[in-house]
Amino acid sequence: MQCDCKDTFEARVAEKVKERLPEGFTEYSASLEGYVLTLTNPIQERLTIAYEGDVQVPKKNGGGFKRQKIKTSIQATYCPFCGKPAKAEEEAA
Ligand SMILES: [Zn+2]
Repeated sequence: MQCDCKDTFEARVAEKVKERLPEGFTEYSASLEGYVLTLTNPIQERLTIAYEGDVQVPKKNGGGFKRQKIKTSIQATYCPFCGKPAKAEEEAA
């Protein structure tokens, strides 16, 4: 992502959550889910939405069906909070 929204919102949410915790809490650890590191160069953090489910497919040897998992994802093209492009701009040749 080409913006600071993740950090900004994590800080805001943490502040709100901490207000409701009893005093003296320790080992606070939380973050916004859905941000995934890409294997691109440079490595980027992109907002990623999972697409998961299952389907019954016919068995190869005939006779019945077996359950097959569906698991893929899509990456947001723009930040949903500020609208900036999620992907780093290509460097001019
Ligand atoms: Zn943003």
